[in-house]
Amino acid sequence: MADRRREPPPHEPGFATICVHGKKHLDKHEVGRPIRAVSTPIFQSSTFAFESVEHGAAVFRGEDPSYVYTRLGNPTQAALETELAFLEQGEAALALASGMAAATTAVLNCCRTGDHIVAGDTLYGGTHQLFTQTLPRLGIAVTEVPAQDPRNFADAITERTKLVYLETPANPTLVLTDIAAVAEIAHRHGALVLVDNTFCTPYLQNPLLLGADVVLHSATKYIGGHGDTVAGILVGRQDWILQARMEILRDLGGCISPFNAWLLLRGLKTLPVRMDRHMENAMEVAQFLAYHPKVAEVIYPGLKTHPQHDLAKRQQRGFGGMISFMVEGGREAGRTVMDNVRLCTLAVSLGDVDTLIEHPASMTHSTYGEDELKKVGIDPGMVRLSVGLENVEDIIADLRQALALI
Ligand SMILES: *Cc1c(COP(=O)(O)O)cnc(C)c1O
Repeated sequence: MADRRREPPPHEPGFATICVHGKKHLDKHEVGRPIRAVSTPIFQSSTFAFESVEHGAAVFRGEDPSYVYTRLGNPTQAALETELAFLEQGEAALALASGMAAATTAVLNCCRTGDHIVAGDTLYGGTHQLFTQTLPRLGIAVTEVPAQDPRNFADAITERTKLVYLETPANPTLVLTDIAAVAEIAHRHGALVLVDNTFCTPYLQNPLLLGADVVLHSATKYIGGHGDTVAGILVGRQDWILQARMEILRDLGGCISPFNAWLLLRGLKTLPVRMDRHMENAMEVAQFLAYHPKVAEVIYPGLKTHPQHDLAKRQQRGFGGMISFMVEGGREAGRTVMDNVRLCTLAVSLGDVDTLIEHPASMTHSTYGEDELKKVGIDPGMVRLSVGLENVEDIIADLRQALALI
């Protein structure tokens, strides 16, 4: 049967029709010559045409994999998902509007009212708020435990536990969790293990190979890498990801835009090169801080003084670009440093090309109350540094002049 939609319209189209369809409306189904773009194109299209009613019905029955609508899938998103699934060595991936969209999608894909989650007790502040404020309103209970000892997870798991949620290294304390040990405990009780791998990226750590079931990224951070995009990623088994897409994403709607998916594809091209330099710079900055008389404590998994340095060496292929430190004189002295840096930028977020400095207790982790901060080991004077890609001497010189003001 001839495809009537490819035939010219019955008469010369008018001005408005050309505005809508373009001058080339007659052949808009064919670009006319091979494209072979080297960079994945941005498919900035909300919807995708069906060949016939029967074709559309087959797509909706799940018998034809054609694209339908960008909330459910789009070629630029798909290119990103394929690449991330490969880098994390998972079966499938789902790209979402933000790291928090990934967290809510993952949690709701695992849990319903009456279910229980066990999580580490230092988490990104937004995740902590989700666990302590929003999920309890839906009847999903969360127990947060000190994450350095796997036995704490064993003690907290109940028959209602559906998910064990880890962040390693944790934001901002850089506490590590032994993923393999916790996965073994969780699986014995039939719970899935999710690892927020934002700090390491797939370049430094592959939780799925250590026994985790799902990996989450705030792709806003190192994967995007340039401070210009907010996005999230989930990687896991094919059936789990399909359910997350067709049930939770479809209903909650936290899809990523094709343009943001493209920015992440571009970020991924330089991920290993950037991570190598982030780590190289971070190690030098950590050593500078460790020997500075005004610095009381430096937390960096690459330093031998980090209590879990051996686990970091075993579980990760590098120590990352994040440092936390406390200065002599506590909160006020920390404020002096953060208010007087000139090259480093006082801003939340991390993993950017720029060095970012911030105060967890009053910013990213202000969702923790005073008592909670103390309990989980977030010092009120803690300063968090996301070491960027500037010349390391310049970063160190900036910190030195700011520390001199204490
Ligand atoms: C930033 C962050 C998140 C949240 O991601 P958004 O993209 O800001 O929604 C989750 N986990 C960690 C470890 C983060 O740093």
